[in-house]
Amino acid sequence: MKLVLASNNAKKLKELRDILTPHGWELIPQDELGVSEADEPHCTFVENALAKARHAAQATGLPALADDSGLCVDALGGLPGVQSARYAGEPKSDARNNEKLLAALAGCSNRAAHFVSLIVFVRHADDPQPIIAEGEWHGEILPAARGDAGFGYDPLFYVREAGQTSAEMPPLEKNRRSHRGQALAQLLERLQARR
Ligand code: IMP
Repeated sequence: MKLVLASNNAKKLKELRDILTPHGWELIPQDELGVSEADEPHCTFVENALAKARHAAQATGLPALADDSGLCVDALGGLPGVQSARYAGEPKSDARNNEKLLAALAGCSNRAAHFVSLIVFVRHADDPQPIIAEGEWHGEILPAARGDAGFGYDPLFYVREAGQTSAEMPPLEKNRRSHRGQALAQLLERLQARR
């Protein structure tokens, strides 16, 4: 099945393709189809994911998949949350976001955090019954970066059970454990149940 992905993030695209291609899904990023980025004005992941998926389906006439994700830090009341991509402002920068996060947590002993991935699939822009799947991945924020893989906050996100940050994990290992991997597994199950 051909699907438009409502994101231009190349690393996110790769993670999603690694999981979905073996199930016969062909993911086409929206910028290859001339679709601009949708606004993400809402204060919840689910509303932003729905807005992005609808926008991409409307512009292309294809079924669409959107992932709205972010990092929620306990000691910061859930921030950066839906602001994760632009936590340190425009233009988006993973390096500046990570610096800002470390500064916000300086001297703080509660380092608990989790990633959230909210994945929405719409068959068309007015789909009254989108499929909505959610995954969470719990870890803690290290005081300094470790590892070069992944993207975003991965070098600071330490997963105790693995003894590694998510930037030190091989891609398949990250997909097996991650918020996005869990949300996609749920999505596939629901899609299969609907057939
Ligand atoms: P979105 O493109 O609006 O969903 O923004 C997601 C942002 O959350 C990214 O730019 C990253 O900053 C952060 N994020 C989401 N998932 C991950 C991940 O798997 N690793 C690291 N950072 C992530």
